[in-house]
Amino acid sequence: MSFWHTQLPSTPARPALDGDTACDVAIIGAGLTGLWTAYYLKLASPELDIALFEARTVGYGASGRNGGWLSAELVGSREKYAAAGGRGSVLALTKAMQEAIDEVIRVADHEGIEADIRKGGNVLVARNPAQLGRLEARVRYLREWGADYEHIAPEELGHRIAVEGAVGAVFNPHCASLHPAKLVSGLARAVEGLGVRIYENTRCTAIDARSVYTDRGTASARSVLRCLEGFTASVKGARREWLPMNSSMIITDPLPDFASRRIGWTGGETLGDTAHSYMYAQRTVDGRIAIGGRGVPYRFGSRTDHDGRTQQKTIASLTRLLHSMFPAAAGVPVAHAWCGVLGVPRDWCATVNYDPVTGLGAAGGYVGSGLTTTNLAGRTLADLVLQRDTPETRLPWVGRQVRRWEPEPLRWAGVQAIYALYRAADRSEHRSQSAETSSWARLAGRISGR
Ligand SMILES: Cc1cc2nc3c(=O)[nH]c(=O)nc-3n(C[C@H](O)[C@H](O)[C@H](O)COP(=O)(O)OP(=O)(O)OC[C@H]3O[C@@H](n4cnc5c(N)ncnc54)[C@H](O)[C@@H]3O)c2cc1C
Repeated sequence: MSFWHTQLPSTPARPALDGDTACDVAIIGAGLTGLWTAYYLKLASPELDIALFEARTVGYGASGRNGGWLSAELVGSREKYAAAGGRGSVLALTKAMQEAIDEVIRVADHEGIEADIRKGGNVLVARNPAQLGRLEARVRYLREWGADYEHIAPEELGHRIAVEGAVGAVFNPHCASLHPAKLVSGLARAVEGLGVRIYENTRCTAIDARSVYTDRGTASARSVLRCLEGFTASVKGARREWLPMNSSMIITDPLPDFASRRIGWTGGETLGDTAHSYMYAQRTVDGRIAIGGRGVPYRFGSRTDHDGRTQQKTIASLTRLLHSMFPAAAGVPVAHAWCGVLGVPRDWCATVNYDPVTGLGAAGGYVGSGLTTTNLAGRTLADLVLQRDTPETRLPWVGRQVRRWEPEPLRWAGVQAIYALYRAADRSEHRSQSAETSSWARLAGRISGR
């Protein structure tokens, strides 16, 4: 599925559900949202009987395939969150995201999860004047909402990470890089160690209050939590809730010494840019470069990929991007390529929901910034199930109601149009070297409603 999976020791599959069962809390999906929720619920209430139902294997989804940015980036418009809880609540959410990074690191340490975590911060680069204008505007905007950024002078960037063609860069300390599959598999072991049942190869087909219907039997539960992110459309009744957006990655072999010396990048920083079809990258502890970007954005009817297989043209375009940013890596073979889906709500803002009357809950819609967010979402969902009033349950993303995506073929046509416009905008900004953001991108923004 992803390169990260190939680096895990092979272990026997966990059992599938065998007939009907009952539990206090049923969690659907054994990615990080489901696992963090189970972890904090069980720590707070050890007597709870918790069962997780996973269609494939632990970490099969985005949690085992992502770019490994454990970042405080909060997805979506601050104004939309503020409309729900006011400016103070958005500042609290920003701070909670920053603290969640240290919480993940703390738990990994406490549970003996060796996930190659390095808190080296995040570097964002601009590679043409329009990207630089957006980078400056973004930093001004995010600083107003409590984020920490400092500028990196071009000569300093050259010493730190030699990105070809960079015309500006900023640094944010609130980010760590990690090995996604090691984190999710280690967390699953920790959760099982606490006494949670995990059923693999058990696909949920429908949910209602107090019941989970699977292809292996029905589970009755007081609380039913849907933790499916990009796979949400696979469950009856939730098909238009979160759009499964595709993201693709490639990873190189370990870089030879001469390329490593040329590129630098020894501080564990994650690296991104401000293109409309933006890229994200990390340097792994074993000296590779892993780099990701959009690829084919969306499949008709909210379908997902086949076990992470991605198209040749996406691999070729990510490889070109890698070589243009790091010419010294041009001779280094690409070891693996894959893709996965993340969940996008219609208003591009994440949510955590729980209804104590029906016992139904869900968390997700992280739009590609889910690694840290799943931890905060899991703690919040656990508090909501336990009906605790905590700072987490008062955050403005809790209980938001978001309208659904348009039916097909509108949904497909809309997403294709948005990403075609973004790609055209990137090309035009590169060609013109103008400081203005392309009008194609402004049109894409209006269609997407971000
Ligand atoms: C290529 C890629 C790169 C990314 N990079 C980053 C990054 O660097 N930083 C960051 O913050 N975020 C990143 N993200 C997003 C982040 O990985 C996700 O937001 C996060 O992992 C979501 O976790 P989750 O547990 O909610 O969902 P998932 O990890 O997708 O878990 C859902 C689980 O549900 C299972 N499932 C599906 N259907 C059913 C069903 N019907 N019944 C039962 N189980 C089912 C799936 O098999 C899966 O295991 C990336 C995503 C992708 C795809």
